[in-house]
Amino acid sequence: MININEFTEQELSEYIESLGEKKFHAKQIYKWLHRVNVESFDEMTDISKSLREKLKINCYIDKLEIIEVQKSIDGTHKFLIKLHDNNAIETVFMKYHHGNTLCVSSQVGCKMGCSFCASTKDRFVRSLLASEIEGQVIIVQKYMNEKISNIVYMGIGEPLDNYDNVVKSIKQINNPNGLGIGARHISLSTSGIVPNIYKLADENIQATLSISLHAVTDEKRKEIMPIAKKYSIKELLDSCRYYIMKTGRRISFEYALINGINDTKEDAIALGKLLRGMISHVNLIPVNEIKERNYKKSLESNIESFMNTLNSMGVVTTVRRELGKDIDAACGQLRQKYLDKIDR
Ligand code: SF4
Repeated sequence: MININEFTEQELSEYIESLGEKKFHAKQIYKWLHRVNVESFDEMTDISKSLREKLKINCYIDKLEIIEVQKSIDGTHKFLIKLHDNNAIETVFMKYHHGNTLCVSSQVGCKMGCSFCASTKDRFVRSLLASEIEGQVIIVQKYMNEKISNIVYMGIGEPLDNYDNVVKSIKQINNPNGLGIGARHISLSTSGIVPNIYKLADENIQATLSISLHAVTDEKRKEIMPIAKKYSIKELLDSCRYYIMKTGRRISFEYALINGINDTKEDAIALGKLLRGMISHVNLIPVNEIKERNYKKSLESNIESFMNTLNSMGVVTTVRRELGKDIDAACGQLRQKYLDKIDR
């Protein structure tokens, strides 16, 4: 049986033709699957019964299932979503002034082992298919009954460790006959898999690249993020410059402020020196305190002075507004609870 959601529109058109049907039905079927989110072929009311029967014999619709929703008073909704093989992932809907934003997962678990992240606590299981990444947007948009206009690949998983599926999902999400969300409204966050940053730059996709930096020296970064043992900050920043040169897009640097670890004035000055002259934006994130780790959020005064130091050096810096404080909003926490609950 074929997972019909995995076809691009072009592939679907070739497949429909191989069934002895007219190609133009592909556009109709693509819309039913990628925009309306039908659960059965019988819901495709403008498709002939005979074609629906052929599809039923040869294909299946890969359905995602929402199994839990946590709602925050600020409008943030955190979804626990079950995949066809009973694995679970998290997706977070957030309301920002620039539009509704969905934070999607790209893998079940994560191999990268960043020390501040709950996603890494449980083992890596598998990468998501493109249709499972895109499916998170489709199912949440339907549930919320509100248009999602921005997507961030910042949920569970390292997007550049699932390169082909992630790039395919971006192209599917862009398709005007599907969700029709432009690449400029899509951000992809990476811990810094340098060769794939070069590869992505050459794809000619206009997505925003977001780099999880979190430290200003290789020694400190290695303590927080194992990927730093493989690629130095210099190599990482060189790949970022290449991305800017190829795409003309500003890079966003994520910096989780951890009390006493990476939040001193000296750290801020060193970060400013690293990024000065680069088309970039720094996002300071007060670290999520998770019960498995000992990290504490930086003091308000340190956060403000860190931001002011960078801005005074000409490096545009903001502090990310914390949404969903009253729910398990840090990535991986809801899935972790689910795993703790079920018998493994
Ligand atoms: S921060 Fe991202 S890359 Fe690092 S362990 Fe968590 S999910 Fe993986």
